[in-house]
Amino acid sequence: MTQMMAMPRVQTCTVSTCGYNNDGCTAFAITIGGVNAACDTYVETADKGGMGEVAAQVGACKRSDCVHNTELECHAPSIMVGAAQDRADCLTFEAR
Ligand code: SF4
Repeated sequence: MTQMMAMPRVQTCTVSTCGYNNDGCTAFAITIGGVNAACDTYVETADKGGMGEVAAQVGACKRSDCVHNTELECHAPSIMVGAAQDRADCLTFEAR
């Protein structure tokens, strides 16, 4: 039986060009995936949106090659997002 679990918090996000970034990530949940553990929720826009509070969680992660990933869910205590290979990458990614 699948148990409900708390999703990891997005502790910091420094990508100020993202529409969800208002001094931190204000999306309800983000998806990490693709090449370089990029944040798939990142959107470069002058518009600002989100939930109005910095309380984003990792809803899903496609990087099954990360040590924190089990069955396509992140089990890290929290993650950090910032510019690396892409404009917005999961900086907590750690290859198995
Ligand atoms: S720490 Fe690993 S499993 Fe968690 S979101 Fe980042 S890349 Fe995905």
